[in-house]
Amino acid sequence: MDCGKYYNQVGEFGLKPEDLERFRQTSRHLLDSGSLLDIGCGEGYWLKFLSETTDLQLSGSDVSQIRLNLSRKNLNNENISLSVDDITELPYENKEFDQITALEVIEHIPEWQKGLAELVRVASKRVVITVPYNQELIYEICPDCGGKAYVDGHINSFTKKDFQNIIINGKVSFKGLKYPLNYYTKKALKEIIVKTKKEAEIGNEEDCTPIICPDCYKDIPSTRYAKFSKRALSRLSKIIKHYPEFLLVQIDK
Ligand SMILES: [Zn+2]
Repeated sequence: MDCGKYYNQVGEFGLKPEDLERFRQTSRHLLDSGSLLDIGCGEGYWLKFLSETTDLQLSGSDVSQIRLNLSRKNLNNENISLSVDDITELPYENKEFDQITALEVIEHIPEWQKGLAELVRVASKRVVITVPYNQELIYEICPDCGGKAYVDGHINSFTKKDFQNIIINGKVSFKGLKYPLNYYTKKALKEIIVKTKKEAEIGNEEDCTPIICPDCYKDIPSTRYAKFSKRALSRLSKIIKHYPEFLLVQIDK
């Protein structure tokens, strides 16, 4: 799988209100000065949030040139350097940045352990990552090649154990990130109702991100809404079980 080619085709995710809530919760885990490189910066919303709320010296990196172009547009700040990099082979010196962040990135990466080791290698002080917590992975079978095309490209699911079972060069701590209950229950219900309704309307697909085959890079639109509704239902069940929505992993060196 060529991640650059794949994510060039995904298009814009856009900034959702719950992203800002996650940014607020995540930023409490950062050191408040020095340099920070954000890996998998995508459209640059997290960097924008940090540029408006901290004095950190910021850089960003993503595997997709198209997504980096969106970052540049959204950031509107020439002081933030951006570059196209592969997380499993970062072109940076050991400890080149004080802090590294990668928010919702490694669930997309086939060799995620290798990627995480790279994040730790180029950080001198701290690494903060977030991943969806214990997410049910949902996929569509590609009608052309028979490959599995995962919703949102999420190919890995994580609990604390996944990080406790590998060797990490640093002190690892965890925090479950939750959204306010009322807010998120309402949102999940809305997702189910709206997307199930839209499923019946042929050709009206703008609200869901594409489901792209990682083998032949084709968009598989046929049952997109059904898959996203299934995702929303699975989120509701997490709320009922009092699971966090995301797992934050902090690594101090
Ligand atoms: Zn395919």
